[in-house]
Amino acid sequence: MFHSTQSGFDCVIVGAGISGILTAARLHQATPSRKILLVEKESHIGGRITARSLHQRLFPIFGVTAPLFQFVNQTLRLDPENPDLESFIPLPQEEEVGFFCGGDLYRLSRKRLLHESVLKMLAGPQVARQWDELQTLWQPVEKEVTEGESAPAGSKKKLNEKNRAHQALHVLFQLADSASIWGLAEETWPARAQALCEIRIRGNWEPALQQLLPAEGGSLQVSPNTHVLGAKRKDGKWILSTNHGPIESQGLIVAQSPWQALEWLDRDEFPSTLFQRASKTQPVSTVLLSEKITRMDSSLPSLLFIPAQAASVVSSETELVFYTHIEYETSLDAPSVVKAIRRLRRAREKVRQKFPNLLSEGEYVALRTIGSTAPHRLAEKRICEKIKETVFPKQSLAFCGDAYGDADNPDENLIRSVLAAVALQATPLSF
Ligand SMILES: Cc1cc2nc3c(=O)[nH]c(=O)nc-3n(C[C@H](O)[C@H](O)[C@H](O)COP(=O)(O)OP(=O)(O)OC[C@H]3O[C@@H](n4cnc5c(N)ncnc54)[C@H](O)[C@@H]3O)c2cc1C
Repeated sequence: MFHSTQSGFDCVIVGAGISGILTAARLHQATPSRKILLVEKESHIGGRITARSLHQRLFPIFGVTAPLFQFVNQTLRLDPENPDLESFIPLPQEEEVGFFCGGDLYRLSRKRLLHESVLKMLAGPQVARQWDELQTLWQPVEKEVTEGESAPAGSKKKLNEKNRAHQALHVLFQLADSASIWGLAEETWPARAQALCEIRIRGNWEPALQQLLPAEGGSLQVSPNTHVLGAKRKDGKWILSTNHGPIESQGLIVAQSPWQALEWLDRDEFPSTLFQRASKTQPVSTVLLSEKITRMDSSLPSLLFIPAQAASVVSSETELVFYTHIEYETSLDAPSVVKAIRRLRRAREKVRQKFPNLLSEGEYVALRTIGSTAPHRLAEKRICEKIKETVFPKQSLAFCGDAYGDADNPDENLIRSVLAAVALQATPLSF
């Protein structure tokens, strides 16, 4: 650990989550002689993808979409000596999703989540009447319009809280990735509906990400347990204050959400759109409850939804994780979190009754204050649309992560912003 000023770095990356690690690995590959320092406040790498409880228990619920999986693999294979990502995290075949409704268990493939039968199950047979109208909500808007024909109807329809079909859709999205769908920008529907049905690849990401980082020494260094407390620009350099003393660097990459960065990066250094993203848009928080599996029941689907408790359950070979999403603002309030934990416990009771052969022990609870950062509401969408690479006017400062960009799929934002940060920092600095 450093106590006097650490200087001579060409670039410091703050945050060793998946975006910081990918950026570090790619930048190191592009400019092997550049001195890069990757700092992380926790003792372990991986950030939200390797979320842990206070007891250091892992919550292996994170699932990436196929494009992010390919991107990590491609980064890993920039060094041909590295193994394929599939040797760490095998690609799943077909993800089976289970629904607990009215005491019955329904099973289907994730690809069929947006199906009339699912919505009927969630909202009753009334859905049938509204099914056609509902379908138009997630049809791509850019259908070719022939002369004399008007644009397809329905694409501008608003979701209505009194409509049973929309209510069912709300439950479905709540289980899958949102706290609420009311007020959601309608043009985001096709992409969001598609993302909902995409297979997610889960696994223990830590060893795979570790492989991207070189061993001790060399021009890329990793510093865990290093909390960045402030950052200022002075005489053409960044001066970062940390719990282990100051660090000096030419370039700075912020590899974490703008909500986190706001705590330490001087407001004047924040591009205004990113400041708006942090102050005017709200991410979703996730409350988790995990147990260690001592005896598995092979009939348990890997992903199980319990609509009555707005809870989802994922299982790996060793862990059973119950989780629910709540609005970020609500999650700052202890009683709401306690209520969410109670819901998760009720969901656990249902699972225990339905799968008596499944045995688990221990109870570990965690709150991720920023579980998901996809833009939801119309005003938020507009702010996100302004976040392009051009909002980073200084060559010495870049931002990357799932909240930087206008894509409705957070993984897409992550990939694009990592590539942009590497491109910006890999070009020679002109101070
Ligand atoms: C429960 C859960 C489920 C999710 N499921 C999905 C999903 O299914 N699909 C999907 O696309 N996304 C999902 N997400 C979002 C996903 O986790 C993120 O897209 C991804 O992990 C973001 O990676 P990141 O590197 O940008 O940020 P992070 O993982 O947040 O990494 C930021 C890092 O910076 C560190 N840090 C913060 N402040 C400081 C500081 N001051 N000094 C030093 N270090 C600091 C943090 O400790 C952290 O390690 C989920 C998130 C959670 C919590």
